[in-house]
Amino acid sequence: MKPVRSALALALIFCISNGLAPDASAQSADAAAADRFVAGINQEIRDNYVEISAAQWVSETYINGDTEVLVAKANERALSRLSANVEKSKQFRTVAGIAPATQRSIDLLRLQTAMPAPKDPAKLAELTQIASRLNAAYGSGKSCTDESKPETCRNLDQLSKVLAENRDWDADLEAWTAWHNVARDMRKDYARFAELVNEGAREMDYANAGDMWRASYDMSAADFRKETDRLWSQVEPLYKDLQCYARHKLEQQYPGKLAKDGTIPAHITGNMWAQDWAALYPLLQPYPGVSNLDVDAALKEKNYTPETMIRRAEDFYTSIGFPSLPKSFYEKSQLKRPADRDVVCHASAWDLNLEGDVRIKMCININEEDFRTIYHELGHIYYYLAYNKLPVLFQTGAHDGFHEAVGDTIQLNLTPGYLAEVGLAGASKPSKEAMLNAQMKQALEKVAFLPFGKLIDEWRWGVFDGSIKPDGYNAAWWALKRKYQGVAPTVARSEADFDPGAKYHVPGNTPYMRYFLAHILQFQFQRELCKAAGYSGPLHECSIYGNKAAGAKFWAMLEKGASQPWQSTLKELTGKGEMDASAILDYFAPLHSWLKQQNKGKRCGWN
Ligand SMILES: [Zn+2]
Repeated sequence: MKPVRSALALALIFCISNGLAPDASAQSADAAAADRFVAGINQEIRDNYVEISAAQWVSETYINGDTEVLVAKANERALSRLSANVEKSKQFRTVAGIAPATQRSIDLLRLQTAMPAPKDPAKLAELTQIASRLNAAYGSGKSCTDESKPETCRNLDQLSKVLAENRDWDADLEAWTAWHNVARDMRKDYARFAELVNEGAREMDYANAGDMWRASYDMSAADFRKETDRLWSQVEPLYKDLQCYARHKLEQQYPGKLAKDGTIPAHITGNMWAQDWAALYPLLQPYPGVSNLDVDAALKEKNYTPETMIRRAEDFYTSIGFPSLPKSFYEKSQLKRPADRDVVCHASAWDLNLEGDVRIKMCININEEDFRTIYHELGHIYYYLAYNKLPVLFQTGAHDGFHEAVGDTIQLNLTPGYLAEVGLAGASKPSKEAMLNAQMKQALEKVAFLPFGKLIDEWRWGVFDGSIKPDGYNAAWWALKRKYQGVAPTVARSEADFDPGAKYHVPGNTPYMRYFLAHILQFQFQRELCKAAGYSGPLHECSIYGNKAAGAKFWAMLEKGASQPWQSTLKELTGKGEMDASAILDYFAPLHSWLKQQNKGKRCGWN
């Protein structure tokens, strides 16, 4: 390579005049070569980025055989480039004196994908084909009472609506089983998928794909596992008290139907995966009828559309000093479920070209759940826009939990006070009862989620390290659901079923621990932003809406991307380089003591 040779010559001249030891100059030449290598990689990724992201975009917004092929092929090329570059990067392993930013770039290169692929071209092609097949199977998944009659088929949206909108035990069980059975056909593909990504991970010198996933947190994979256990142990008591309270209420709703082991039946939480219990709010609200927090009704009453819901969310971000969204965002995003084709409706935020072509892909319904999801997705969008100035390898979250936590932090500011200010709810200063109602509503989303966020990757780590074998996939899944969530299926599930596949992130191969971390970090971020806004009241009543000082502090964190270890970035924001669940406990302190009160004398826990 010409640049290296010419650069090498230059370096030599520099040192003779200073009389340095000859081999020192040789090393610096290698270090310089590492700089050039990284610069080349950043350019190569940028040059190929548009093709891979466009293929991904059409494969999820126009699901058909052709787009499945396009994305599989584009992935194949990207993954073979990646494993070739990772291979090339190994030459710098023993080189001393590499600049920290260059070394960090090389480390991040090895973590560029959650789907490490084998070098063998046939296996690489097989992997990308399975990946797009699994993705398409989820996106176009349907349950039909009569396969020959399309009108008898229901997709995930429709089945989820049944669970969310009624407390009918049998109808919910039927809808729950219908969707979970859709995943059965994914089992074989998933087992082969796990084998292939493990092979890819080993070729990149990781023990397995799970080891690789745990390696992207600026600490050892073993320490990361300990870290997630530490954080869980901090929040588990709060979750257990919520689970206990909810279970007793459900026992009243379904007398004699619940098992005596303390668990909650998987199909009666109002959500397909029991990860969010917001649909149970009418049943679980501490003081029924005290406060009007019916954002669903307000959105309909005020004739919100998908676009105006987004503009409302954008208004929050611009109120704290973030830039307006690019015009192309509204032109190119997918906001509604198209009537004429299948799409992956699971909400996601996209950066299509690393320079401002940002979009979201959703199937927005005019309801509070989607309204809040929009605030979340815009968090990703603004993170992209904030770090777009960085070299490509640094254009990602400080760690992936940060990326999820940005929008979630903003969601925490949707207080009754803020909702009243923007005309979407009643009284601005809620009474104590109304405050506890608001806390319960928030907890049914943010606290109920915690064990679910923790268990999905515990299951996948087990699949990848071989401790969970294909003939025990489903049993292991339900053992973890019972251990963490205290949830169990009401109908017998067997190894003919593949219930992990019913959750998008498994067939979609999206790591999930990030969401658990985000549910801890967002409260930590919020506490600091409220301080920056000069707020000193109870954390759950704080909204930084309109506060530029808080916005500037947040933006400064986003601009860092992954250019330094997350511990440094977190320290710059909070003064501490450690994730800490004390903020979420602070936030829910009023509700937690109320729950303890309610659970007094009741049997809590499960076996
Ligand atoms: Zn997200």
